Amino acid sequence: MSDHSVLLSHIPGILYGFGDKQALLPAHLQAYEASRPEKKQVHGTRIVDVTEAGQECGEADGFITSTPGILLAVFTADCLPLIFSRKDGKEVAAVHAGWRGLIDGILEQMAQRINQTSDTASWSVAIGPAAAACCYEVSQELIDTFMQRLDLPPSLISPRHRHLNLAAIAEAKLRALGFADIDITGGCTICSPDAAGSGFRYTSFRRNSHQRAKDPSHPGISGRNQQSGIIIL
Ligand SMILES: [Zn+2]
Repeated sequence: MSDHSVLLSHIPGILYGFGDKQALLPAHLQAYEASRPEKKQVHGTRIVDVTEAGQECGEADGFITSTPGILLAVFTADCLPLIFSRKDGKEVAAVHAGWRGLIDGILEQMAQRINQTSDTASWSVAIGPAAAACCYEVSQELIDTFMQRLDLPPSLISPRHRHLNLAAIAEAKLRALGFADIDITGGCTICSPDAAGSGFRYTSFRRNSHQRAKDPSHPGISGRNQQSGIIIL
């Protein structure tokens, strides 16, 4: 079983899941893969209203629908997957957010879109597996940018020297945007071990980059990103 959100599990009429290396798209969502919209994720802030299976969305990192039978899914490999559902299960959304999307305001864009037809307080959100503060070392310039642009405690943004806590930043932003029910689920994509303990649980862009720096023949992650998704049945 992939990562579990208590909040989403209580919502009627939906299926959701977070992928890992074993099942890039969780097994219980695979039957719906053909309905997934076509898109190119670009670390942007554009949200698309999805109304048809296989819809051509262009460059986008957030998706929302009230139409049953369409799998909304985002590809990640260290960035945050965020899965949203209205608590009555009648409207769902998914977001891909790395540090750039968080800084540039993709969560604010999603909140604005949700507030057009609903309100953020009546939704639940699950933040899935991503690079966590244990491993996500970045430049001091990037830490400084977060400190300057976001009105959040420095120890929340960076609990360790030059390490960024993407999930905590996302959660704080979501709470400020009126979401009250938020789960953080899933492990660190860089260091979580697989079930056997002999390898890694998730595909990680950061870990892969380090391997490729040491051994240029090591394969890249293309086609191996995990997917997180949600569908109204
Ligand atoms: Zn880690």
